[in-house]
Parts: sequence; structure tokens; C-alpha cells
Amino acid sequence: MTKFEALGLKQSLLNAISDLGFESPSEVQEKAIPILLESETDLVALAQTGTGKTAAFGFPLIQKIDGNSRTTQGLILSPTRELCLQITNELNLYSKYDKGVNVVAIYGGASITDQARQVKRGAQIVVATPGRMKDMIGRGLVDISKIDYCVLDEADEMLNMGFFEDIKDILSNTPQDKSTWLFSATMPREVSVIAKKFMHSPQEITVGSKNSGASTVQHEYYVVGGRDRYPALKRLADTNPDIFSVIFCRTKRDTQKVAEKLIEDGYNAGALHGDLSQNQRDLVMNSFRKKQIQMLVATDVAARGIDVDDITHVINYQLPDEIETYTHRSGRTGRAGKSGISMVIVTRSELRKIKAIENKIQQDFISKKIPTGMEICEIQLYHLANKIKNTEINKEVDNYLPAINDVLQGIDRDELIKKIVSVEFTRFYNYYNKTKDLNTVDSSDRGKRGDGNGSFGNDGNVRYFINVGEKDGYDWMSLKDFLRDTVNLGKDDIFKVDVKDSFSFFNTDASATEAILSTFTEFKVDGRFVNVEVSKNPGGGGGRGRRDRSRSGGGRDRDRDRGRGKRRERSASKGGSSSYSGKRRSKRKSDSF
Ligand code: AMP
Repeated sequence: MTKFEALGLKQSLLNAISDLGFESPSEVQEKAIPILLESETDLVALAQTGTGKTAAFGFPLIQKIDGNSRTTQGLILSPTRELCLQITNELNLYSKYDKGVNVVAIYGGASITDQARQVKRGAQIVVATPGRMKDMIGRGLVDISKIDYCVLDEADEMLNMGFFEDIKDILSNTPQDKSTWLFSATMPREVSVIAKKFMHSPQEITVGSKNSGASTVQHEYYVVGGRDRYPALKRLADTNPDIFSVIFCRTKRDTQKVAEKLIEDGYNAGALHGDLSQNQRDLVMNSFRKKQIQMLVATDVAARGIDVDDITHVINYQLPDEIETYTHRSGRTGRAGKSGISMVIVTRSELRKIKAIENKIQQDFISKKIPTGMEICEIQLYHLANKIKNTEINKEVDNYLPAINDVLQGIDRDELIKKIVSVEFTRFYNYYNKTKDLNTVDSSDRGKRGDGNGSFGNDGNVRYFINVGEKDGYDWMSLKDFLRDTVNLGKDDIFKVDVKDSFSFFNTDASATEAILSTFTEFKVDGRFVNVEVSKNPGGGGGRGRRDRSRSGGGRDRDRDRGRGKRRERSASKGGSSSYSGKRRSKRKSDSF
């Protein structure tokens, strides 16, 4: 018997599961499926996206509905169009061997009459956004008076978006004796209110810990002057050349402005906000999924339901008004078992907000410095050296080699290397050479520890370079573990771990330097020397990854980038209104700063 069989699932579902290649149930599936199959009960499940929760309610729902009846028996409410489509798609895959089962998605921004027609044809399961659902009920286009099951998916996000009244209205159109299954990543007060008001003695399951963000996320903050937010953002990007990120702004206007500036400066950026038409938003999201956009600047509402798993960084260009929103933002990274970094750019007066978030998420922030111009140059230089080392030689070059040799005759190896790296390095150097330090002094003493500002900084901590990185399978967590275990240091002795693609940086107190350097003398892992050196460059801001040379903070190849920028600008430009634009103003106010 497979593990899925043991949960009590029927053969048609088991066949679909086998086709999907799922080998064993995820934690939320293991916990929820038997409960939902065995009894008619209400359920509250605390689970984040990416945990397999769609199948946790989808499998039981498909098993329980009557595929021979055309009556709508199951209603799934989810916060966004993207999620609706995603759930519908998943349910179609799960029910591929249950021929009669028909799942229809209804959401704003598409023809309501087409959707009504699809429902009329007989949809046992309707997956809907609350706004469109309410519209359709109001116009008598859908009948949910006989449903047996109602799923509230991502309940916290729906309430965060101001759908409380809509959900109440929708639920009042459903039978009293249905079962309600509520899935939520967190349990803010509003979700408890819904659970109390509309559910009957729900069973509760929790996957991971309650009310906390994903623990695979490292939270960092950078204190800058109010006018330096944008240059700070650029530096964070320049120290993380492989960044694949969502940058959150507070307003649609700021979102558009920041995206436009980034595009102008040659970054692969795009804007996502409610003033774009659905079509424009789809274009931006498609480019982002394909990683043609590395920096997606978004409002909170528009970013709901971004279902992209490998986002490396979330950058809070501005903090949100409500703490809960920060949890949603940072939850966009560190998904599907990967680690991620959530960065916050703050001014001194906003530091108290960091404390409030720490209390809420039960996780400490690391105080970091915006990298100096020279640190960025150092990172870019190492990257370039690695890129040259890893570049595959194009055989066509052979034809030109004699002529090239003629040109380069008389230049020795060292000089040649210096010249090659200078081609790129000088661009960065010229840009960053005379730029100022963007950090304002963090008046709190909370971050003293990690704020070292020099290889042998005046607060006594040391920054190191190590020749392993992402390519060797490390992220900040696993590298920290590796160093701690290898050198036999305590839990907090290694900090400011910045993993790049083929090398990394980290800090320790000066007292650990001897142990570190002596451990990594002639030290080999899998036959390869692992070197640690005290970094030539002070500081310790920055993050991970490597970006393509097509843009930088410094002198970019403007002509080439301009064309790319214009294309992006068009796709990021303002357009019609989105399915939620201007509608959802009733934001909840609890837990604001
Ligand atoms: P969700 O949390 O529902 O958004 O699911 C995240 C992803 O995990 C989806 O792409 C599912 O297809 C996939 N998934 C769900 N359950 C399993 C499983 N038991 N094994 C492997 N993948 C799964």
C-alpha cells in the first residue's frame, strides 16, 4: 500500500497522483486528508503556500463530490485571479480520471457572461475570488445554496485585502450544514473571527509554527537617509548580481517610479500594480517567471498570489503600514525548502517598526550596512574572475587567434589578466570610486554585533572571504552550519554570511580569527582546497549571487540597455484598471505600527 493509499484516497485519485509523480504525502496532506475523508467536519489548517495544501483540500473534495450531479457542491474562495487559475489547474490534474468532474474558475478581469455560461453547464466545483463571486451571486449567475463544502484558501490574505464583508455575504448564501475548510498561513484576529462566526467546532491542524514567517528566511535591515533609498536599492542589487527579487513599495506611484528608474539605469526590472491592465500584468508576470525580469517592483495587493518559488530576495523599499503585511511580503521568498533573504531599507525614525516586526515574527533581524562602493567593486571583480574561469571557450575564436596573438604580443600573463579584468572593473570603479557611504548610524545598540566596519573593524569583528558559494551547494544557512561545525564555533559566532555564486563572505569576532585561519590551512572538501582569507575589503553588507554584466550601478553599456529598457518600460507602463483597482479600500487596521 502506498502512503497515499493509506490516507484513504480512491483509485482514480491514486492514478492521477502517480501520473503527477507525487511520491509521498506532504505534512499538511498527511494531517488533513484523513480528517476530511473520514468525517463531515469543519477544519482550520495553518499552512503556508508551497506546502501542498491545494491537494490537501483538493483530493478530499474530488473524492467527496458527486460527479454525476451537475449541481455546484464545492466552493473554493481564494484571494487572487492567479491563485484561482492555479487551483483550478491543479484540481483538473487531480480529477483527470474522474470524468464527470467539472471545475470552473471565476475571477475579475474576464467576461462574467462566459464564466456564468461555464458554471451553467454544470460545475460541481467553483473556484472564485470573493469580489467576482459576490457580483455573480448578486446577478443570479451562480447558485451556491446547495454546496456541501466551502474552502477558504489563504484566508489571511483574503482578509488582508479587505474581503471580509464579501466573504461574510458569500457565506450567508451557503447552507448552514455545509463543511467549511479554512486554510491560512497565519492566524490574525480576523481569521479567528471568521472561524468563530462561520464554523462549527473546527478541528485544527498546524504545519510548521503558528503566526511566524518561514524560518528559512533571513531578515536584514539597512538604515539609510530618506533620500538614499533608491541608491541603496541599486547597491543591494549590485552586490547580488543573480538577484531574483520582489521589491515592495507602498503606493502604485512609487512602484511605477522605482521600476522606471531601475529600467532607465539598465536593470532588468518591471512594475506590477493595480493601475496596469490585466493584460499588462500578465505580460510582466510572464517575464518575471521566465526570469527576464530580475527585479519585480510591486504593490502589496498586486503581488498577492505570486506563485514563483525561487525568489532569492524580497526587498522592502518601504515598510508596509501593517505588520501582517510584512509577513506576507517576506513569505514570497524562502519557499519550497529554499532559503531566502528579506531586506528592509529603513530610515532611523522607522527603526521601532523593526522591533515590532521582530516581536510579531519571533525572529531577529540582522543589522547590515549598505555595501560601500569599493566593496561592490571587490565583489564584481571576483565575479568577473570566476566568470572568465567558467566561460566555455568558443572554438570559432581559434580562427582569429594568430591575429589576436599579434596584437597582444609582448604582454605577459599578469599584465594580460590585469588588462582583461580592468575592462569591466574600471566601469564599476569609476562609478563607485567617489560615491559616499549611504549608511546612517544605527542609533540603537541592537545591531552592534554585526556592524563591523573593517576587516579588523573598530568593534573587533573580522570579515573573511571563502572560496565556496552557491555553485558548491551552499546558501547562507548551510554555509553558516558548515563553518560552525568545521571550526567548532557557537551558534552566533558566524554572522553576516553572504553567499555569492562561487565564493562567499562571513564575519566573526576577532577572537575567532586564529581558529578560522588555522582550520582552513590546507583544508580540503571532496579533494578540493577550501581557502579562507581575511577580506581585503572592510564592511559586510551585501548578499548573494551574481548578475549579468548588462547593467550595473556604474557605467553600463547604455546603448544596448536603452533598447531593453524601453521595451520593459512599455510593458511596465500604466494602463487600464485591474480587477481590484480602487475597489478594496476597507483595509483592516489592527496590528499597524
Ligand atoms: P501548494 O502548497 O498547494 O501551492 O503546492 C505546491 C506545489 O507542490 C504544487 O506545485 C503541487 O503540485 C506540489 N505538490 C503537492 N503535493 C505534493 C506531493 N505530495 N509531492 C510532491 N509535490 C507535491
